[in-house]
Amino acid sequence: MEPDDKIESPVSPSSLKIVTGVKKRAAARIISELCTGCRICLQSCPSHCITIVDSDLNFNGIAQVDDRCTGCNICAIDCPWTGVMMINPDGSRKDEAVYAKQLKKLRGYQ
Ligand code: SF4
Ligand code: SF4
Repeated sequence: MEPDDKIESPVSPSSLKIVTGVKKRAAARIISELCTGCRICLQSCPSHCITIVDSDLNFNGIAQVDDRCTGCNICAIDCPWTGVMMINPDGSRKDEAVYAKQLKKLRGYQ
C-alpha cells in the first residue's frame, strides 16, 4: 500500500453522532447520621466508589461516595438504614419511587 492510499472507513461519517457535553445524572450522598458503617453498599456498588471513613458518629465509620458515582441508585436501594439519598444535578432530592422503579428494571424483574 502506498502512503497516499486512503483506507475506507466501514462507518459512514453521516451515521456518527456528535456528542457534546456530559449527561448529568443524580449522585449518591450519604446521610451520615443514619449510616451505621455496615459496608453493605460497598459490596453492592458496581463502580467501587464507596469507602468507609472514620467518623465520630459511630465506631464502624461511615460511608463516603467519590466522584466516580454513576447515579445507578443501587446503594440507595440496598442500604438497610436508609442512609443514602440520591441528589439530582439541580440539588433536589431524587424521588425514591423513581429510583426503585429504575432499579427493578436494571435488575430485570419488572
Ligand atoms: S449500606 Fe447504608 S448504613 Fe451501611 S455503610 Fe452503606 S450507607 Fe452506611
Ligand atoms: S449510586 Fe450506584 S455508583 Fe453511585 S455510589 Fe451508589 S451504587 Fe455506587
